[in-house]
Amino acid sequence: MEIDLFLLHSLIPSWTSVVLLVSFFTYLGISGSLLPGKIVHGATLPDGTRLHYRCNGLHSLLLLITILGIGVEVKLISPTVIADRGLELLSATFGFSVLVTLALYIAGHQSSARGSSLKPHVSGNLIHDWWFGIQLNPHFIGLDLKFFFVRAGMMGWLFINLSVLAKSIQDGSIGLPMILYQMFCFYIVDYFYHEEYMTSTWDIIAERLGFMLVFGDLVWIPFAFSIQGWWLLSNKVELTKAAAIANCIVFLYGYRVFRGANKQKHIFKKNPKAPIWGKPPKVIGGKLLASGYWGVARHCNYLGDLLVAVSFSLPCGISSPVPYFYPVYLFILLIWRERRDEARCAEKYKEIWAEYCKLVPWRILPYVY
Ligand code: NDP
Repeated sequence: MEIDLFLLHSLIPSWTSVVLLVSFFTYLGISGSLLPGKIVHGATLPDGTRLHYRCNGLHSLLLLITILGIGVEVKLISPTVIADRGLELLSATFGFSVLVTLALYIAGHQSSARGSSLKPHVSGNLIHDWWFGIQLNPHFIGLDLKFFFVRAGMMGWLFINLSVLAKSIQDGSIGLPMILYQMFCFYIVDYFYHEEYMTSTWDIIAERLGFMLVFGDLVWIPFAFSIQGWWLLSNKVELTKAAAIANCIVFLYGYRVFRGANKQKHIFKKNPKAPIWGKPPKVIGGKLLASGYWGVARHCNYLGDLLVAVSFSLPCGISSPVPYFYPVYLFILLIWRERRDEARCAEKYKEIWAEYCKLVPWRILPYVY
């Protein structure tokens, strides 16, 4: 009973958590608008227009790490503030997601825009429209909100991890499993290094901005994907050297496939003649890449991502299913997404998609699925 009350109390957002969240979003808004970054053209929308994305996430991240590092050094900020206030930050972010998507719902409803980005898609079902969103690319004071939220979620995930690391150093529980987990999570920094690849992903090009996406970006990514780190704070794991090496191999292999596949598609979209694995690409109907990773399976990038996700959990050993939440969730999500993407591509590319499926029969894992 006492524990329940403690949990309930921790879930109530304090002013500190609200201030932390608002400061984070304000910083992201300002740095996203002002810092230099490569301008990347988004996919061509049905009305022929293209959005432009300023990919300065890495600059924004490094500057924030510097500012927070100085803040910690001069004892203005506690490095464990996020780890100490995890639950209230979670509920504050959840509350924010609900409020912002209600605002998006109202603004979308009132929009009279006709262009693909802002044209309202109203089904008439309030829950459906709020959940899936009404507009494709809503903006606020010049910021592309979809791009903004995914950046906030990915950065939030990294800062949760760093704070959990600080907590484990502070309480003396740090060991090889935590070090491995934190090392692998530097994949988030790599994400920002390759931020421009995000501009050609399903979320950015196809999904409207509703609660599903905002909640996924702001709450799910940072808080659910970091479960392994939280779990290691209160559980001790002994890892053998062999297990640690095997874990590193799973990560490196998964990362290579994940990054390689996404990179090949991105390069292909920009220049369909660019060599893939040192050879001219095999192209179907002038539009679909059928060589490199995209000739091995139709969604090899999902396979790589799944291996990376498993490698995040392996440092926790196998005594509990809790740290495996992320890979299990990702598995279900990517199978579902692969089906939706397949249906979208079949409709968009028609016979050339059928030809691609014939040439590359495997969806994610060759000879299995
Ligand atoms: P993809 O990046 O695979 O994008 C799918 C789109 O790519 C298709 O709709 C089609 O779009 C185009 N396409 C598909 N096949 C080909 C081909 N052979 N040649 C050329 N273009 C092709 O999917 P996602 O956006 O879902 O995923 C991007 C990454 O993000 C993945 O690595 C995934 O694992 C990761 N991810 C991670 C999540 C997480 O929670 N950790 C959640 C979701 C994704 P078009 O119409 O433009 O041609």
